[in-house]
Amino acid sequence: MSESMQGLHRTHRCTEVTRADVGKTVTVMGWVQKRRNLGSMIFVDLRDRSGLLQLVFDEETIGAEGFEKAGTLRSEYVIAAVGVVEVRGGAFNTALATGEIEVRVQQLRILSESQVPPFPVEENSQTREELRLKHRYLDLRRPDLQRNLMIRSHVMQEVRKFMTQEGFLEIETPILTKSTPEGARDYLVPSRIHPGTFYALPQSPQLFKQLLMCSGYDRYFQIAKCFRDEDLRADRQPEFTQIDMELSFVDIEDVIAVNERLLAHLWKEILGIDIQLPIRRMTWQEAMRRFGSDKPDLRFGMELHDVTDVVKNCGFGVFSGAAASGGAVRGINAKGQAGMPRKRIDALTEFARGYGLKGLAYLAIQEDGSYKSSFAKFMTPEELSALCAAMEGEPGDLLLFAADKSKLVYDVLGALRLELAHEMDLIPKDQFCFVWITEFPLLEWSDEENRFMAMHHPFTMPMEEDWDKIDSDPGSVRAKAYDIVLNGQEMGGGSVRIHQDDIQEKMFEVLGFTKERAHEQFGFLLDAFTYGVPPHAGLAYGLDRMIMLMTGTENIRDVIAFPKVKDASCLLTGAPDVVDAKQLRELGIETVTEE
Ligand code: ASP
Repeated sequence: MSESMQGLHRTHRCTEVTRADVGKTVTVMGWVQKRRNLGSMIFVDLRDRSGLLQLVFDEETIGAEGFEKAGTLRSEYVIAAVGVVEVRGGAFNTALATGEIEVRVQQLRILSESQVPPFPVEENSQTREELRLKHRYLDLRRPDLQRNLMIRSHVMQEVRKFMTQEGFLEIETPILTKSTPEGARDYLVPSRIHPGTFYALPQSPQLFKQLLMCSGYDRYFQIAKCFRDEDLRADRQPEFTQIDMELSFVDIEDVIAVNERLLAHLWKEILGIDIQLPIRRMTWQEAMRRFGSDKPDLRFGMELHDVTDVVKNCGFGVFSGAAASGGAVRGINAKGQAGMPRKRIDALTEFARGYGLKGLAYLAIQEDGSYKSSFAKFMTPEELSALCAAMEGEPGDLLLFAADKSKLVYDVLGALRLELAHEMDLIPKDQFCFVWITEFPLLEWSDEENRFMAMHHPFTMPMEEDWDKIDSDPGSVRAKAYDIVLNGQEMGGGSVRIHQDDIQEKMFEVLGFTKERAHEQFGFLLDAFTYGVPPHAGLAYGLDRMIMLMTGTENIRDVIAFPKVKDASCLLTGAPDVVDAKQLRELGIETVTEE
């Protein structure tokens, strides 16, 4: 029988009880982690969100009935205990905050019993994630998840504190809205009152925050839920949270400055770490050239080498061919890896093929200076030594090369660099390497759509010095866009926005929008801009990713209370699910099941 709170008040969370409380009577409440019977004594580890506290029961103190009750306690029972804090009789447990004390219980209440849980509630659970997600309410009792969510809460509070101090207003924008231009698929919500029409859930508050600038709010922020119906990927969630902001009367430097202060504030408050300001900057061009990625992990080297010029006339057709057709030949030097087994090199080749590359060429420089290689036989000794020199290759090194279209070569080598760094254990785990990536291309060619697409979004301002190339060489125009990258992850990004109608119109034209379509989709924003709009710029962070980076977790589901799995379903609630025929009828919706 469960008892109730009647008259009892919790005085402390488990780890709020300290040595200074010895001799005091406390009332604690929580879950039974573990019970141990030692003849005339019973020990219980009591758990709440703060941690563990040892309770001791002996018959003399609690009486026969209470002692018997204590003997019935099992894991996950919810109890209240009133007792006196003592220094532990037995050995201290240095692993616990409360390891030197215990509470000798005088009064015990069982507030709720528990079935045997399907898995033990413990740190670093080895239980398969599916089972844990199905019983997420139990999984969320685990100390590691509780710690992550506490950090998340702390971050949100500090963001609010900092942004408010800096003169930002927290303003909510709608969830039921019109499609926003972030380029992913929208989640749609049917309208009952207007049959046949749909709201879209926001992919970001982009258009609204720009409108708020039009309306004079000056500095806006929001911790905003966003929704993107993207293809299945392990590290994506269909709904996620952004720390979103927009500022008026600013240029890039102002946005960067306020965000560097924000990041320094968060890292200091949450982790006690001083970020060195200013944060390093790198242009998109440089990041691609040196790391094959626009989100380079700068915790280690292993930079790419461009050897196109060195091999353009060599005897190896794959290299010379790629160079002749306007592609690129680049390589990375895996230091000291010349002895890598053939099987592993084959696996790396498969890895590269996964990106669409036809093959990976390798050259292992043996200690005696000879080569083991997939292509050396096609090249002269002079060509080979020139290639090794360009790669800074020394005996013992393994050189890996990709030859194809420039973009593909970057993608493959950028990924390979990370793969090898993990394998070679080159990545220090305790470092935070921040970098701003700037001067992104404004446009990106899409083979699929056969047109240019906005790399960030259609409201991103081009760099003034490149604007005259918008007709002759649109692909070369750079944007006033920036990303903040941490340890190889894109943590946030934003841009200065276009606030001049002639530039905006031209942008739409380049993107292949007709005037009518632009107006259909974004007319309200374009209209607003005709009534006086300040120059403005902004940025948004992925909060989930930020928390992952702060906590060192690699699983995005470990920083979200109720996450979805890869196929966008929720194992706990069973969403998405079928609905009543009546609900559908009201919405004027009929479903068809595809064969
Ligand atoms: N709305 C953008 C995004 O979600 C961020 C920004 O430009 O402020 O990526």
